[in-house]
Amino acid sequence: MLNVDLHSHSDCSDGVLTPELVAARAKKNGVGAWALTDHDTVKGTPSARAAALELGLHYVSGVEISVTWAKQTIHIVGLQIDETESTLVQGLTDTRAGRMLRARDMATQLTAAGIPGSLEGALQYVTNPESISRTHFARHLVASGICPDISSVFRNYLIKGKPGYVPHRWATLQNAITWIRNAGGIAVVAHPGRYKLDAIALDAFLSEFKELGGSAIEVVTGSHTVDQYQQYAKIAQHYGLLASRGSDFHSSTESRVDLGTLPALPENVTPVWHDWF
Ligand code: AMP
Ligand code: MN
Ligand code: MN
Ligand code: MN
Repeated sequence: MLNVDLHSHSDCSDGVLTPELVAARAKKNGVGAWALTDHDTVKGTPSARAAALELGLHYVSGVEISVTWAKQTIHIVGLQIDETESTLVQGLTDTRAGRMLRARDMATQLTAAGIPGSLEGALQYVTNPESISRTHFARHLVASGICPDISSVFRNYLIKGKPGYVPHRWATLQNAITWIRNAGGIAVVAHPGRYKLDAIALDAFLSEFKELGGSAIEVVTGSHTVDQYQQYAKIAQHYGLLASRGSDFHSSTESRVDLGTLPALPENVTPVWHDWF
């Protein structure tokens, strides 16, 4: 069976490896079809595709778009996109535009909390300044000894109610899905188990997602527990959504799950890639 991994990051966003090195790692781990899905950017796509071709991997062009829905941040993955399509390109440019402004505000807050120099520190880890993210701040807070590891950063800093949290308005759900579909792609709800949505809010969200033209949901992801694989497989069935699988790999030391190492999708769902390869 083809080992499919449709969610991963490079240093074009908040991963640590170049697109070429992510491709090589996917190949080494036995992945047969792979998507690079950087946050709000397709900058790595040409080199990812070329590397995949060279290694004999099926390549799926992808992106992970940051969305604000009902005051929550939700991630929508786009797969099989034409990464040169103009409304998508412009939409992603607009979505990234706020990142450096937010980063400056985050640094100001951290300074007030007794941690000066965090913007300069975070920038040490950034390849593309317009893609600066909380992950880069987290790496700096770990490297400078303020936190023991990344997950401790995301418990004590950079989240609601903690120093370094700056509320941010990302793309709308409608915009993200429209950009993906204009680019010929498929919209996928990323790691649904991570959102703080009760049953009613999840139903409202998935109903709206479907109505706006979304068609798939991640079932097996690095963010889910084994129980959640079954839970979201049932949800995929219930809403008539295709199912996706992806590690959400960022780095060999920070990610819980390596490329291509997750279990297969449950039998009772239709893979989003069922007619692709
Ligand atoms: P941003 O888009 O700048 O708000 O950053 C979001 C990124 O932070 C996510 O894509 C993850 O890579 C990372 N992140 C968020 N929460 C956690 C967490 N609890 N542990 C590790 N990384 C996290
Ligand atoms: Mn990330
Ligand atoms: Mn995500
Ligand atoms: Mn991701």
